Amino acid sequence: MKWIGGASNQDLAAIEDLAGLFSLAGVHCLDLATDPAVVAAARRGIAWAESRGAARPWVMVSLSDGSDPHFRKAWFDPARCPLDCPRPCERVCPALAIPALGLNPIAISKISQAHAGVASGVLEDRCYGCGRCLPACPLGLIEERDQLLSAAAVPPLLAALRPDAIELHTQIGRSGAFAARLAQVRAAGIPLRRLAVSCGLAVAGAPPAAGSGEGSAREHAAASPERLTDELWDRFAQVRAAGFAPLWQLDGRPMSGDVGAGTARAAVGLLRRVAGRLPPGPVQLAGGTNDRTLPLVETLERSARGMVAGVAFGSVARARLQGLLLRAQKRGGRLLDQADLLPEACGLAGDLVAPWLKRTRSSSERA
Ligand code: SF4
Ligand code: SF4
Repeated sequence: MKWIGGASNQDLAAIEDLAGLFSLAGVHCLDLATDPAVVAAARRGIAWAESRGAARPWVMVSLSDGSDPHFRKAWFDPARCPLDCPRPCERVCPALAIPALGLNPIAISKISQAHAGVASGVLEDRCYGCGRCLPACPLGLIEERDQLLSAAAVPPLLAALRPDAIELHTQIGRSGAFAARLAQVRAAGIPLRRLAVSCGLAVAGAPPAAGSGEGSAREHAAASPERLTDELWDRFAQVRAAGFAPLWQLDGRPMSGDVGAGTARAAVGLLRRVAGRLPPGPVQLAGGTNDRTLPLVETLERSARGMVAGVAFGSVARARLQGLLLRAQKRGGRLLDQADLLPEACGLAGDLVAPWLKRTRSSSERA
């Protein structure tokens, strides 16, 4: 069970709260941006949960071997927005990263500069790159900007953060770029419990698929399942040669778990299409996973079902707690410290996680 904070999410207050709540709920791993402030915030949340008897989850940080929807942020110049725009961008943003209606563009620009040092209509630290605002703007003013670490930055950063595990996002066609990132990970010289490889059917450099983008991250032209498994075998050889143990994160539909049942079907459907051809290692479902995922997993054929070692929840976890996070932030404190809100918050996190923990316990008992 993994809680995904987000590879480009730097909303420290929310990360601390959610890390604490999902650690207490029993997740085994927290997946975070490779950012010292983010990891420190998550570790404060973990300490809060440990003080209440929770087991310490792994800290995993995410890297990418190239341009990837998980490693981007939206950007637009608010001075170009018409004053009478009904602001659909603001309405579709699940992270409330586009400031509220009622502020004129100059005021928004000032807030952005004060908040993140960048003159943008988007609050950069809150944006986690889901992409929903990009097609929402009728004038096409919103662009995506990559947030990738340089090769030189990776080894010292990882050595300082000392995560338990790393997730390396890759895409079909990026074997060489993956090898380069893996060499940087090795150069950090840190022991890792697992090196997770996150990959879906998107092809590196391919344009967005026609008509994509409605209500979720944009989807890119997709490869065949056979091509995906060929690429995973290539990554398997690389990961093993580097001395790491792999974990396969099948990325059904990135950052869309709060959108609906279709996204859960995409995540489970990807496994159905590649089951039987995957390289050795545990499989974790991600990208579109939500509370409908487990019932869908139970409909898989027995062999495919048995391959699902776990699940990762990102957008859906955040969406569940968003209202309570905001209420706490308006009071100027952590949700973790709000005695009147905490029972509901713990219940919402626990309800998402509990069915999967039960499944894990049942599997262990059978083994
Ligand atoms: S990319 Fe997603 S999180 Fe970022 S501003 Fe747009 S809608 Fe909000
Ligand atoms: S929808 Fe486009 S024009 Fe309207 S406020 Fe958002 S970015 Fe500006």
